[in-house]
Amino acid sequence: MKSLAERVQSGQFLYMTELVASGLKREAQVLEIASKLAVIPEIAAGSITSYAGGQLGQDSIRVGTAVRARGLVPNVHLTCVSQDRKTIGKTLVALQALEMHNIFSISGDWPKAAVKTAVFDIDSVQLVEHIADMRARTGTPFFISAAVSPFKYQREDCLYQYVKLEKKIAAGANMAITQVGWDATKFVELKKYLDERGIKTPVLGNVYVLSRRAAERMNTGNPPGCWASDELVAVLRKESEAPDGGLQGRLERAAKSVAILKGIGYAGAYLGGTHDARQVTWIIRRAEELAPKWEELFEELQFGKKDGFYLYKRDTQPKPTRTFLPMALDTAGKALPVPWAKKVTDSPMRRAIQGVFRWLDRRPLLSHWFERFEYHSKKEIFGCQNCGNCVLGHMEYVCPQTCPKQMRNGPCGGTFHGACEVIDQECIWVKVMERAEASSTIDQLKVYVPPPDRRLTGTASWLNFYLGRDSRPGRPKDLWKAGGGPGRTVAIDEDEKLKTAGPPAADKAAAARAAKAPGAGGPGKASGPGKASGAGQAGEASGGMRQAG
Ligand code: SF4
Repeated sequence: MKSLAERVQSGQFLYMTELVASGLKREAQVLEIASKLAVIPEIAAGSITSYAGGQLGQDSIRVGTAVRARGLVPNVHLTCVSQDRKTIGKTLVALQALEMHNIFSISGDWPKAAVKTAVFDIDSVQLVEHIADMRARTGTPFFISAAVSPFKYQREDCLYQYVKLEKKIAAGANMAITQVGWDATKFVELKKYLDERGIKTPVLGNVYVLSRRAAERMNTGNPPGCWASDELVAVLRKESEAPDGGLQGRLERAAKSVAILKGIGYAGAYLGGTHDARQVTWIIRRAEELAPKWEELFEELQFGKKDGFYLYKRDTQPKPTRTFLPMALDTAGKALPVPWAKKVTDSPMRRAIQGVFRWLDRRPLLSHWFERFEYHSKKEIFGCQNCGNCVLGHMEYVCPQTCPKQMRNGPCGGTFHGACEVIDQECIWVKVMERAEASSTIDQLKVYVPPPDRRLTGTASWLNFYLGRDSRPGRPKDLWKAGGGPGRTVAIDEDEKLKTAGPPAADKAAAARAAKAPGAGGPGKASGPGKASGAGQAGEASGGMRQAG
């Protein structure tokens, strides 16, 4: 059995098929599917999802081990959902012991079934960084895949996806896998973005065998991060009137997508939406036939958002302008040794301030009142949640704790045209990118932000900063053995924003989006499996892909 790394290094166009290890599908069925896929020579690996669509699934490590025993190389999805860094560390040790080296590192969907246990202690960039560090320390040949979605049509959301991918690659990712999407121009956009920067990391394009029902559901942004345009839905509705329920049309579109990916120069295709080995084989063979005329097919895969953002097309939106708050704080950060300065440099003034804070730190009552002062002043302006490891200066003065998933290195892939996956608000990372664009400092967003030291929750971050106790860019703390704590600094029950959306918050946000989308089928109507594909359920078969994180 050739390893995934060897298959990628060979430079031959490869296939990875998604295996949805969900609670909905009996494990025996998944393993039977794996046995059939294992004999298709073009398939380099089976990608085993975890928490697909935010639902509890089967144990992806156990399924991965069984899949491997049936001759298929496993690529195990590892998400940051409901696990602190100690638990994730244990999982990695288990993967190491089992010699399961292919890991798809993703942030993960908001867990719908158990919203109150929605712990996001770390994000996907931090996860990649940790796996890469473990690889370097122990010599374990982990092969890390990272997710990216070029199918974002809101400018800042799209730009941040690319910035975040660069961060993942810099942190140690070996390969990228895209989100689902039906827009060849966007596939080219991602490739061109990487080529322009000399980034040679191989990319697999996601090719999803899309049923009408799944498309109707995705049209409302459900599962999070998956989107199908009105035009695509209309085509699928028409196709579904055929005697085969539209199956041939779906498979043909998938084969054309693969041919286009080959032509553009992708390293391979990530096949989802079907578990049927005969369908997979048909797609592969048909794609070979179509590959020589991929340029003629290009226009057939244009189901993007008409007024959406494209990096290499003329952008009609005005560039964001600088606003007073970031401008004033930036100016202060350049002139003074303030805690939000992007660079920490030694100076007499800094040493003097350190002396004052050391003095303050030895006086519990005074330092308590200082902490209260810091918290209340920052709460009003930034929505501070008192995490104790302030990174406002590295996030354009947007607090990371106001992201429901507590990300520190960029948005997850779950956004819907710039809106949060979890609650009915704009994704906080849109504001971060807007401000960086306005001040022409997008490159500064590429700085790696380490996980916070959650033992400092409730303490004064300014004290921690001057006394060198916090975890921040340039000063990461290794807290993997100690565990990171619960992730949140405010309990979900007490989080006003999550409370207003009401648990399960993600469902309410999806319902709100569905209500805003005229003519959409609505999430509740289209949750059953695809009639003819056998695996058309959007929540299942799109797996972890939308969890671009
Ligand atoms: S990063 Fe932490 S300390 Fe800074 S504003 Fe946010 S919660 Fe408060």
